[in-house]
Amino acid sequence: MTGNEPVARPILHSRLVNPPFGDPGVYVGFMFEKRGLLFDLGDLQPLSDRKLLRVRQVFVSHTHMDHFTGFDRLVRIFLGREKTLHLFGPPGFIDRVSHKLAAYTWNLVASYPTDFTLMVGEFGTGGTLTRARLRCRGAFKPEKLDPMATRNGVLVDEANYRVQAAVLDHGIPCLGFAVEEHRHVNIWKNRVEAMGFRVGPWLRDLKQAILRDDPDDFPFRVRWREDGTTRETQRPLGELKAELTQIVPGQKIAYVTDVAWNEDNRAAILVLARDADLFYIEAAFLEEDAELAARKRHLTAAQAGWLAREAGAKRMIPFHFSPRYSDREDALRHEAEAAFTGATKLRGASPA
Ligand SMILES: [Zn+2]
Repeated sequence: MTGNEPVARPILHSRLVNPPFGDPGVYVGFMFEKRGLLFDLGDLQPLSDRKLLRVRQVFVSHTHMDHFTGFDRLVRIFLGREKTLHLFGPPGFIDRVSHKLAAYTWNLVASYPTDFTLMVGEFGTGGTLTRARLRCRGAFKPEKLDPMATRNGVLVDEANYRVQAAVLDHGIPCLGFAVEEHRHVNIWKNRVEAMGFRVGPWLRDLKQAILRDDPDDFPFRVRWREDGTTRETQRPLGELKAELTQIVPGQKIAYVTDVAWNEDNRAAILVLARDADLFYIEAAFLEEDAELAARKRHLTAAQAGWLAREAGAKRMIPFHFSPRYSDREDALRHEAEAAFTGATKLRGASPA
């Protein structure tokens, strides 16, 4: 970083894998890194092999075909590579993955020079992550690993981001997800010297103290080398924060699909997607077919818009449109948008 004004740039960029009438799914890429995340594994045809090979973690809402049929393509591309792929899904997911792999013959893989490995995690209402490892050289026989406790449904917590899951109801358990960048702390380096200090490792400690939310009156130790000697002083953390740093909030992207319109789902979705910058939410049916939507445990466009509005999402991207409306895409979009902006009120949706 230079003394120039630090710029807030989101590191995550996301897109729907398919058009809204196609299989559901979102690909998330990273600005400064060849890394990708995938939400759901339906038809992956629009994604190049190069893009798919960047994927480190895959989050599957449930294993209905339109959300899981792309698994084979993914495995085929990774096979023969020294790579590890992490997959997360609802209860029963390890079995689903194992059965898919067991459909193929693996008599030649034991001598492969590489060992493509799948780390599979199952997340249910207890908040525990049940885990298994399936190695190529082991013919993808699942090896049980110790279960892991999660906090607030956080499945993955990496240097730049974390991914959280919520167990929702689609007649079967179905996971909703939110990926969130960590806050960044940018330092105005030109101001460091203006305060009489020099740059040094203390700036890294300063960033960490801020990200830990240490109190503003904490006496922070500033320590630097100057003219061959070490110098040291103390300043309140709040003062250094105000003078030297810019705190950039992380971007949040939520992904919710295949969920029934019921009280528990609404409550869980509103927590999961709270203040999302981008909310991908299914809008399968029109409100005029609300009964059909209820039978199929899907949302209507108006319900999707209502949820995005109540969650305080900045932007909503409706998807997973039912093919029955293939010539009425505008109607679905308008209905979702009208509920999102509050132009129309949804009947019976008041959070009692
Ligand atoms: Zn579906």
